[in-house]
Amino acid sequence: MNDCLFCRIIRGEKQADFVLRGDTVVAFKDIRPQAPVHLLIVPRKHIRSINDLAEEDRPIVSDLLFTARELAREAGIHQSGFKLLFNVERGGGQYIFHLHLHLIGGW
Ligand code: AMP
Ligand code: ZN
Repeated sequence: MNDCLFCRIIRGEKQADFVLRGDTVVAFKDIRPQAPVHLLIVPRKHIRSINDLAEEDRPIVSDLLFTARELAREAGIHQSGFKLLFNVERGGGQYIFHLHLHLIGGW
């Protein structure tokens, strides 16, 4: 067991506003939204950052992207447009070191 915040959310030890609980990825609302729609799409597997992805993680990366597209559709922002963002390491704005994809839109 680790004390990573997103692992704790995934294990149900900390509350989050989930929009998806999938086999390999989950998604929940960002606690400090930067836009009307701001979701975090998170692999269940603890991966520290983009820099720590392994060859075996290729399907997870694919799941993150396809899930993001599906959630954008469900939120009704796929036509108006949205941003997908990975912050990588501190200099790239990463503060939580469990890989996550930001889905931002709905302006
Ligand atoms: P990053 O800067 O890419 O590491 O993004 C981390 C994101 O996690 C930020 O946008 C935070 O607002 C968000 N965040 C931090 N704590 C929580 C939480 N408990 N539930 C949901 N989102 C959170
Ligand atoms: Zn974690």
